[in-house]
Amino acid sequence: MSNHSQTYSFQRQVETYLHADVVVIGGGPAGAAAAISAARCGKKVALLEKSAQLGGMGTLANVSIFMPVGNVTGIYREIISEMLAEYLPADHDQSIAPQYSPFLLRQYFNEKMKKENVQVFYHCEFIGAVHGGGRIQSVIVSTREGLRAFEGERFIDCTGDARVAIDAGVPYRTGRDEDGLTQPMTLMFTMQNTGKQVTPLLPEGCYVYNDVSDLPQGRRLFWEQNNDGSLLVNMSRVKANGAKIEDINYAETEALRQVFSIANYLQRTGFETYALTHIAPQTGVRETNQIEGLYTLTEQDVVDGARFADVVAQTNYEIDIHSPDAKKTTDERSVAGYDIPYRCMVPEAFDNLLVAGRSISATHVAMSSMRVQATCYALGQAAGVAAALSLDDGRAMRDVSIQRLHGELEQQGVRFLKQRAGSVQAEK
Ligand SMILES: Cc1cc2nc3c(=O)[nH]c(=O)nc-3n(C[C@H](O)[C@H](O)[C@H](O)COP(=O)(O)OP(=O)(O)OC[C@H]3O[C@@H](n4cnc5c(N)ncnc54)[C@H](O)[C@@H]3O)c2cc1C
Repeated sequence: MSNHSQTYSFQRQVETYLHADVVVIGGGPAGAAAAISAARCGKKVALLEKSAQLGGMGTLANVSIFMPVGNVTGIYREIISEMLAEYLPADHDQSIAPQYSPFLLRQYFNEKMKKENVQVFYHCEFIGAVHGGGRIQSVIVSTREGLRAFEGERFIDCTGDARVAIDAGVPYRTGRDEDGLTQPMTLMFTMQNTGKQVTPLLPEGCYVYNDVSDLPQGRRLFWEQNNDGSLLVNMSRVKANGAKIEDINYAETEALRQVFSIANYLQRTGFETYALTHIAPQTGVRETNQIEGLYTLTEQDVVDGARFADVVAQTNYEIDIHSPDAKKTTDERSVAGYDIPYRCMVPEAFDNLLVAGRSISATHVAMSSMRVQATCYALGQAAGVAAALSLDDGRAMRDVSIQRLHGELEQQGVRFLKQRAGSVQAEK
């Protein structure tokens, strides 16, 4: 549909809004943690978020359950202890999978950022990077007052789509090697037990699902952990790449159609007293772009339980690939646990840019395991500290001292598990 034959040169004098030590773009799990950890190192931090809330997919797309990663540590552990204390494990190397309120997490982050001296800018969408000589100088941002430049010494791209890195020319890959297809998108919703019979709704344009095999994922997938009669439902599935204009347009309408249809199905098959009470403001995006960094995490690393000297995050979350063709299958394979190295966040060509969160350098299969929220918090926390250290030491991001990085992360409460027998490969 797009008309590639016509291009425009767009030039504008853009006023600088502020200069920060560290500019973090995107306020999801990775961005929130990066901003906090850099601020804890004494840096002036600006966190730019295009929506009205922090938490990323965890709030915006109501993915309000933390998948288990086997290492409850650092800022993620703090969130659990401050917001979900009843789930806090005594030891950090235990697995938890708490369901939470996205509304409470949103409020929690607003207060947390004040306490941590992070300046948050809502409704600020990154649109372009000003760069030269291997350095990002500023990012151009669409604000409620028009375009503004945010200058910084270090930049951390936590947009989930690697928007900043790609705009600056960092090479990237998308989806499966064979066809570039990404994991499908899902619109999350919540139902609530009203205690009385509910009349099932089926608005115009929706489907009639009569059997589990009719459902988009071919399965019933929901959580009722809060014991308050609420049901968090993850059952829609739309074949789409969340970083493409036409795909998103299709997904936002098709996913909503599926949500009403699934709610109607559930109301006829066991949840007769449940009303549809909340639909996430946007359809959740599992996978879009991965940068090519100094190291690319592979399926082999995940399966072998690879260990790295420059470890920044550890997880034993399974390989979890919802069918990119939007078939009714999900490729789930348990893994023993592995490390993610710092180098996955470092684009080769830039001295002052890191990419944290789900768009790090990883293959399609590897990202299906590392993408969950707890891991993105861990990556973000490491990126924020690394940015601060690179400033203090006057070094490029790629040359940050790993010993210093590990030392500062430890100061901030991060613990790495001892290497586990049976899953340990030679250090890479
Ligand atoms: C349907 C679905 C179900 C999932 N289930 C689970 C689960 O059960 N448990 C779990 O732990 N994980 C789950 N995940 C994965 C997890 O939610 C994400 O992978 C994780 O949130 C990624 O974190 P992130 O910080 O990298 O990016 P995101 O969470 O995507 O956050 C990116 C942030 O950047 C902002 N942003 C984007 N572009 C710009 C821009 N140009 N300018 C400014 N800001 C920008 C966005 O608004 C957003 O706030 C699920 C994901 C989906 C989609």
